[in-house]
Amino acid sequence: MLDQAKEHLKHYFGYSAFRPGQEEIITNVLNGRHAAGIMPTGGGKSICYQIPALILPGITLVISPLISLMKDQVDSLEQAGIKATFLNSTLSHSETSSRLADLKNGLYTILYIAPERLESPVFMEQLASMDVSLVAVDEAHCISQWGHDFRPSYLKITDLKTSLPSNPVFLALTATATPQVREDICSTLGILSEHTTVTGFERENLSFRVSRDGDRLPFLEKYIAGRSEDTGIIYTATRKVADQLYERLLKKGIRAGKYHGGMSDADRSSAQDLFLNDDVQVMIATNAFGMGINKSNVRYVIHFQMPKNMESYYQEAGRAGRDGLESECILLFSAQDVQVQRYLIDQSSFHKERQHSELVKLHQMRDFCYTEGCLQSYILIYFGDEAAEPCGKCSNCKDERTSEDVSKEAQMVLSCMIRMGQKFGKTMISQVLTGSSSKKIRDFNFHELSTYGILKHKTAKEVSEFIDFLTSEQYISITGGQFPVLIIEEKGLQVLKGLETVTRKEQNRIVQKAPDDE
Ligand code: ADP
Ligand code: ZN
Repeated sequence: MLDQAKEHLKHYFGYSAFRPGQEEIITNVLNGRHAAGIMPTGGGKSICYQIPALILPGITLVISPLISLMKDQVDSLEQAGIKATFLNSTLSHSETSSRLADLKNGLYTILYIAPERLESPVFMEQLASMDVSLVAVDEAHCISQWGHDFRPSYLKITDLKTSLPSNPVFLALTATATPQVREDICSTLGILSEHTTVTGFERENLSFRVSRDGDRLPFLEKYIAGRSEDTGIIYTATRKVADQLYERLLKKGIRAGKYHGGMSDADRSSAQDLFLNDDVQVMIATNAFGMGINKSNVRYVIHFQMPKNMESYYQEAGRAGRDGLESECILLFSAQDVQVQRYLIDQSSFHKERQHSELVKLHQMRDFCYTEGCLQSYILIYFGDEAAEPCGKCSNCKDERTSEDVSKEAQMVLSCMIRMGQKFGKTMISQVLTGSSSKKIRDFNFHELSTYGILKHKTAKEVSEFIDFLTSEQYISITGGQFPVLIIEEKGLQVLKGLETVTRKEQNRIVQKAPDDE
């Protein structure tokens, strides 16, 4: 059967070899084993169900949240000579019935639907009368409450496990799964861990850069101007910032496009076309842009503000360089980005537990911005890859500043935290250390602590950044929901006892530089 799969790969898609993971997943599916494939964006997930679809006797049902892309996908399959169709809310009643009739008569190999369709009892009944061999769940992280994109209708997929007499194989596919989400997907769909294929998350052609507290706008303008031949995406955290940036870049004569959830469907789809056809140089967008965007020659992705978590970050950054050529992912970080994201979490309708898990993720995202270790390793470890080697090309690997021993300052911060009872957040701790005379500090009698003002030669901002650094290196951790509290970790206790030293890169003001300044 695998030979047949290889022939199909060549014949229908024109490729002569499988990519990492594809063969294993396809073998599992063809042998009737429920399976999961976790591959980075651009890794080639679609072929993992398209090829089995050609070999298995019945229909392959693909569940995907990307209604806007269904038509494109179906068109390109048809072009390759594969009979495919989709059902979604854009179709008329009669069109839907005629497609359903054709499906029952075996005229189609692949059927795409959005998960919401599973909520229709009529549709479920019709599905039960079809011979479904395979159910492929695209963007499978949407099934997990812990994922960053939970969709309640994805839970309906479990109904398919009992309602289809044809007993299909289930295949879950996603690009973004932390170990927790991965387990959630597998237990929901009954997939054994030995049938889970995780290909490396490393994208060799991407180089990562984090820039903190510089002037973002001049940096951006210069960067884009220096790459007039290249296409890029700029992500902002809010629609408002996307609008402002868009106006600003247009005024500068840059061919910019704009895409966010506040625009009409028509405006969004024309913006997307302009981008896909290389008619704009940069797309300024919120996270509404990109799920499934398959443009291969995106040379850079710039996050103008920090996104809400590492899953979103890596998915968005990963839209660069899908053609395998060297590409850059740059994050322009400023401390207030954390507040913006915090605000969005506080305003969300998530229940308490969920809000808490979002906050934890936000802190891990922030740690990425403060770490002095290899950025690529940080990403890979976050996604569960074991001991990743430093990449040698990210902004931290290339940082040539010398490291200094800051154990003394670290001890001052940590012992101040102990004296304050480990019940406060970063702002309050920085204020005590810098000797602020605020009323709150007097109320708590903190001005009488021996650590009061011991870092008064520094600004509260510098101390606060130092605390962020200690947090990103796991000397300190954050607990609590609405009012985060800092507590000392085991590693921090070792520092207090003088058993561990803390080193940090020299802190001369880092100014963001465009590449040609370097
Ligand atoms: P994903 O869904 O994982 O983001 P896609 O399925 O869209 O990725 O595949 C990304 C690109 O890689 C597509 O252009 C696809 O045709 C191509 N591709 C997939 N498998 C192979 C292969 N075995 N060899 C070469 N190219 C492949
Ligand atoms: Zn690195």
